[in-house]
Amino acid sequence: MPDSLTGSVRPLRIAIVGAGPGGLAAAIALGRLPNVDLHVFDQARVLREIGAGIGINENTWRLLKWYGADKNLDAYYKKRDESVIDIQMRDGLTGELLGQRWQKDSSPVGPPYARVERYKLQNALKKEVPEGLIQLSKRLVEIEEKDTGLTLKFEDGTSFEDADLVVGADGIRSVVRKFAFPDHKLSFSGKVAYRVLIPQEDVAHIPDIPPSACFWHTPTTHVYTNPLDEGKFEIATRALETDENAGKVSWGQEATPEQVVHHYKDYHPTIRAIVEAPKSWLSFALFGGPRLETVTAKGRVVLIGDAAHPLSGAFGAGAAFALEDAYTLMATLGYARTHSKPQSWALEQFDEIRSPHYEKLYHILNTYEQVNKEVFAIEPPLDPSELVKLRLQKNAAGASTAWIYKYDVRMPSN
Ligand SMILES: Cc1cc2nc3c(=O)[nH]c(=O)nc-3n(C[C@H](O)[C@H](O)[C@H](O)COP(=O)(O)OP(=O)(O)OC[C@H]3O[C@@H](n4cnc5c(N)ncnc54)[C@H](O)[C@@H]3O)c2cc1C
Repeated sequence: MPDSLTGSVRPLRIAIVGAGPGGLAAAIALGRLPNVDLHVFDQARVLREIGAGIGINENTWRLLKWYGADKNLDAYYKKRDESVIDIQMRDGLTGELLGQRWQKDSSPVGPPYARVERYKLQNALKKEVPEGLIQLSKRLVEIEEKDTGLTLKFEDGTSFEDADLVVGADGIRSVVRKFAFPDHKLSFSGKVAYRVLIPQEDVAHIPDIPPSACFWHTPTTHVYTNPLDEGKFEIATRALETDENAGKVSWGQEATPEQVVHHYKDYHPTIRAIVEAPKSWLSFALFGGPRLETVTAKGRVVLIGDAAHPLSGAFGAGAAFALEDAYTLMATLGYARTHSKPQSWALEQFDEIRSPHYEKLYHILNTYEQVNKEVFAIEPPLDPSELVKLRLQKNAAGASTAWIYKYDVRMPSN
């Protein structure tokens, strides 16, 4: 009985595809529901680092507590310290400080701040997933719909039959999304993110490195620098790569310094010295896609995390969105179960909560795009520093983002 959460004798058979932050969170959350038969599949041979730092904002932190994973991050987060600058904005060409926020400005009573390596977040969640639940080396290639449920087919020739619910947590290039929404297409944004974590001692000789996270902006690109815990230093850049081959770069592929450094030759000397420090980088060709009108399909499929919103990491909060999705899915399925509602009802509720959230995020990106067009269209053209300043001002005036990081998905009023 695929559409019934109640009165069914056999447990609800759930397949979660993907064991990134979204899939792991779903495994913990759905595992707390009674009478579920839960399976998690990931294509990776081992769950490992992909070279990115992840921001643990207020919303992420709150949910990590709920998932029981906050304690596993204790060694890594930075205690909230009101005397500490949270983030700076600088002109990438001149180094001029354009704005900054202190930790006390964003939430005086909030949780600790953190930015951690992605695998640490993943490990913190994984510790809370019951042993033996995750099957690795299971690359989903196809889903087949049958009367008895959905069949997942894996690259190794094995399959998983009769799923009542498939949770697509398989990231931006989601195979589950392709099955549910075959017409939805991703496209290369023309930008590549180069990212790396290096020892802080590799940049210790460089003068004027901000002590906090810092975005260094130019009209077309930016560089993000951040001294992390445990003596690591994070660099995350955006570069324009207009040639056709750039879009073929796979996710997390190694890149040489030569591929990266030339993009930043006009930047302020501090940034030039910083981007010259790493001996190798990881490149991430940034793909995005239009907003999905709905994130559930066929009464049996639900997308969570990056699979649900191909936003290309635009808000630095993708892990938080994934945790929010997984929580919401648990809550709607749980409610349906205790109130004799069918599974399709639970998925509709999930969609009603999460799709508008993603709509708001896409609206912000549309605003930014519009502002960008406007500032580039000004005649006579602005000099680069004026353009950067005006765009930051207009972005701030046109679209607020602070709410994203405070959002509490557990509150009915949200
Ligand atoms: C440039 C960039 C910067 C970012 N910066 C931040 C940041 O600062 N803070 C933040 O919170 N977020 C950030 N994000 C986003 C964040 O990395 C993701 O949003 C977050 O990891 C989403 O988790 P997820 O579980 O949905 O997807 P993913 O982390 O992508 O995990 C998907 C999982 O599915 C598996 N998988 C994929 N395909 C298959 C398949 N066919 N079969 C089986 N398994 C499969 C993968 O192996 C992977 O384990 C950034 C993203 C980008 C691109």
